[in-house]
Amino acid sequence: MKVDSKRLQRERKTVRVMIEIYCRKKHKNPGGLCADCQELIQYSEKRVDHCIFGSQKPTCAKCPIHCYKNDMREKIKEVMRFSGPKMIYLHPVLAFYHLLDSRRKLPNKAKN
Ligand SMILES: [Zn+2]
Repeated sequence: MKVDSKRLQRERKTVRVMIEIYCRKKHKNPGGLCADCQELIQYSEKRVDHCIFGSQKPTCAKCPIHCYKNDMREKIKEVMRFSGPKMIYLHPVLAFYHLLDSRRKLPNKAKN
């Protein structure tokens, strides 16, 4: 099965952008992203890469498998809550695709 890497690349980009927005507004680290948020980006990108659904991946909010560690999950949830609504005007294209992706049905694998 050919992996739709564009989709996953977009997903990685969406996560990165959301964390950047969050860090800029909340942590205001002068040198750019703070260490915590850099770690969170790396962690999230790895989770996307290792998602068992591959290109069939639902958006993380909808995914039945919670692959984030507890503390990371709390952090990313807060980021999404904060940056999610801002995406619509800051990055309308990414937000649009994310919305499309979030309407996908789960692949059959998820039902087992
Ligand atoms: Zn930060």
